[in-house]
Amino acid sequence: MISVAEALGHVVGATPLLGGERVSLAEALARVACEDVVSARTVPAADNSAMDGYAVRGVDVATPGARLRVVGTVPAGSVHRAPLEVGTAVKIFTGSVLPNGADTIVRVEDTEAIGEWVTIRGAPKPGTDVRLAGEDIRPGQTVIRPGTVVGPADIGLLASIGRATLAVHRRPRVAIVSTGAELVDLDEPVGPGQVVNSNAYVLAAGVREAGGEPLVLPIVRDRPDAIRERLAEAAEADVILSTGGVSVGDFDFVRDALDAIGVERLFWKVAQRPGKPLTFGTSGRHLFFGLPGNPVSALVCFSVYVRPALRRLAGHRRIHLPVVTAELDRAVRKAAGLTEFVRVWLAPGPSGWSARPAASQGSGVLSSLAEGAGLLVGPSDLRELAPAQPFPVIVTSESTLALERSGYG
Ligand code: AMP
Ligand code: MG
Repeated sequence: MISVAEALGHVVGATPLLGGERVSLAEALARVACEDVVSARTVPAADNSAMDGYAVRGVDVATPGARLRVVGTVPAGSVHRAPLEVGTAVKIFTGSVLPNGADTIVRVEDTEAIGEWVTIRGAPKPGTDVRLAGEDIRPGQTVIRPGTVVGPADIGLLASIGRATLAVHRRPRVAIVSTGAELVDLDEPVGPGQVVNSNAYVLAAGVREAGGEPLVLPIVRDRPDAIRERLAEAAEADVILSTGGVSVGDFDFVRDALDAIGVERLFWKVAQRPGKPLTFGTSGRHLFFGLPGNPVSALVCFSVYVRPALRRLAGHRRIHLPVVTAELDRAVRKAAGLTEFVRVWLAPGPSGWSARPAASQGSGVLSSLAEGAGLLVGPSDLRELAPAQPFPVIVTSESTLALERSGYG
């Protein structure tokens, strides 16, 4: 049996980066760039006004009370062609290009207009309220680098330099193979001894949330040849997730099936709870995870091992779920020799986060992992996790940090 850290090391060490594809800006959000994008343009393209007001020559307004003749109006989108002569101003709006000769904007609230004349109250310094050409982006400037996780502002930069597409790492394609003679599909009646194949839905959702493309294959019964065939069929995907049949029971055929189709298995059994029977291997650039069938075990193994692999495949550098530190509000007993992922709810406590363990820690009790729960990591060597001691908690969803605040004030 290997430790959680060793198992994660194997998984991350065996995970390659996927190649690139070119996507439109509309599809680029949250993808990871795999090219340098260098601007050929100047943004903004010309000096322009940051305010509604008057474009003037700074020297003409050096003393308060200057009176200038208004010789034109420049709405956004149009250009005043004639150079600005001594003693004149043009009415200008935010974003409008400054006429030649103008170098200063006087805000409309600092002026008084009478007929074709405007009086300037103060004496704004030359350059006031002018956005200079190229102050955002200069030609030759790199606006996106490989590894950039594309956000709305990056998309804005690309759009403003006229780039319609971006090369990004491909999304991992993830095949999901559910094994178990007891499983039925969602739309089938559930007879005695049968359970709905919930794992396939959980994993497909997890894959999507991690930025992958799930492909759910039909349920496969607990027969060696059937499992082998289904896994071989799934093997074209970047990542193959199976659930069930990976323990030591008489009907647990997944390990043998993986070996039979040529997967090089790097480990089986991790010193953890839930999720001890997890197995992992590779075949070329394809990753195979044999997840336990228990719904909680499957999801915990997904969160701790599969998600980082998917994130890495897609080019992310930050691949793990965020972790906060919390103190338990009561003692929790655990098995010595196993890292225990304790399902907890977090709330603000007297000193940072306080963690309340879910009432049931059974590996089939999925409700204990539903919205708001996190995974407190109980170290392998301890038999009891004492209250008022700091432990790491894996933040499995945004709602784990159950803190609703209004606004930013
Ligand atoms: P196994 O790992 O195959 O021994 O399965 C362990 C437990 O998980 C059994 O109670 C199964 O009924 C349950 N289980 C296995 N696969 C699934 C699945 N796809 N969806 C929901 N429960 C499952
Ligand atoms: Mg089974």
